[in-house]
Amino acid sequence: MKQLQKRILSDGKILAGNVIKVDGFINHQLDIPLINEMGKEFLCRFSDVKIDKILTIEASGIAIAAITAQYFNVPVVFAKKTEGITTSIDVYASNVHSFTKDKTSRIQVSKQFIKEGENILIIDDFLANAQAVLGLLDIITQGGAHCVGVGIVIEKGFQEGGRILKERGLNLQSLVVIDAIKDGKFTFR
Ligand code: 5GP
Repeated sequence: MKQLQKRILSDGKILAGNVIKVDGFINHQLDIPLINEMGKEFLCRFSDVKIDKILTIEASGIAIAAITAQYFNVPVVFAKKTEGITTSIDVYASNVHSFTKDKTSRIQVSKQFIKEGENILIIDDFLANAQAVLGLLDIITQGGAHCVGVGIVIEKGFQEGGRILKERGLNLQSLVVIDAIKDGKFTFR
């Protein structure tokens, strides 16, 4: 997606450990017209698949999934990382190690929101080592549903995530793949 590549080049910052900061349009301030274009692009890429629901993980996946869901006309469920007083005890849960925070958290989804046989599309902002997606997949499997695709805004192609998901036979669609970061510059696939 050229428009997204351009925005990464103009506004993306590279932090220590090859963490990419895109706070100006995805992770803090949200560029809604740009995210709308992402939603349309995901619809194009998954147009041949029947999708009942979109599943993402809080926090940054929510905005992208919510806008994307308007094009698919399906509900969005997000896995929670924290337990609130309203969190049901009847949950599917999985442990996810965060690449950026170097911390493992228990993510959970109430059992009422994953139904047996549902076709679920996973959406997230970044793909690094696929820990977040694998946690969501685990939850989908526990619920007896099917993952029919994984839509990612920015895949870091120099990390393992893409390979791991393709080896599992998943339909991975990344809007932008960054193959390398060298001398403060991005190389796109
Ligand atoms: P993974 O689970 O694939 O290792 O990492 C993906 C998750 O970590 C995403 O949900 C995203 O929030 C976060 N993440 C991984 N790499 C980056 C990065 O370079 N920049 C930002 N902002 N988040 C990242």
